[in-house]
Amino acid sequence: MIEPKGLLVVISGPSGGGKTTLWRLMVERYPDVVFSVSATTRQPRAGEVDGRDYFFYTKSRFQEEVANNTFLEWACVYGNYYGTIASYVDNLLAAGKNVLLDIDTQGARQIKAKRPEGIFVYIVPPSYEELVARITRRGSEDLEAVARRLQAVPDELKELGNYDYLIVNDDPEKAQQQLRCIMLAEALRVKRQDTSWLENFAREAKKA
Ligand code: 5GP
Repeated sequence: MIEPKGLLVVISGPSGGGKTTLWRLMVERYPDVVFSVSATTRQPRAGEVDGRDYFFYTKSRFQEEVANNTFLEWACVYGNYYGTIASYVDNLLAAGKNVLLDIDTQGARQIKAKRPEGIFVYIVPPSYEELVARITRRGSEDLEAVARRLQAVPDELKELGNYDYLIVNDDPEKAQQQLRCIMLAEALRVKRQDTSWLENFAREAKKA
């Protein structure tokens, strides 16, 4: 197996927390950051592009891929299936890219079990009112779907303890800076760096 080099960064949080805006900003700003495009059985929203936002699958195609072990994780979220394509993520990591996954808390648990080296970041809007305003403003969900997303919030918040970082997203610019800081700091962890050259360094110093 090829040793993964890039960072695997998971972002989760209630619908309307601004995760989509955040990953789009990150990908736009930083050439080392790429988004893990998931597969879903949800219908595309206006403006969503197949292969950029999601790979839009039929239910039967999704089931086939589950049977083929294509997914690193998958879950049913708000009545639709979503899954992370393992080869997609692994190829990018092996190429040294920092890969951002926007997935729900069930998926994050699965990733954490398989990839404990992942970095887990929880994103919340600054208030409940703002969350409602964002989901409603988007206009992409019918009333029933909006209600379903809101009803899921208490359970989603219970998962916060499984995450390493919390970003209160009251401003997308600030949120992307904070996420960038997390990534830069994580990349500097001793365990993530190749320190073999320091052995030579120590040897040379001994001779002095
Ligand atoms: P949306 O339908 O608003 O794009 O996404 C709904 C929820 O599904 C969001 O919380 C998002 O993080 C989550 N999601 C998107 N892709 C995946 C995935 O591949 N796996 C899992 N488990 N959740 C996902």
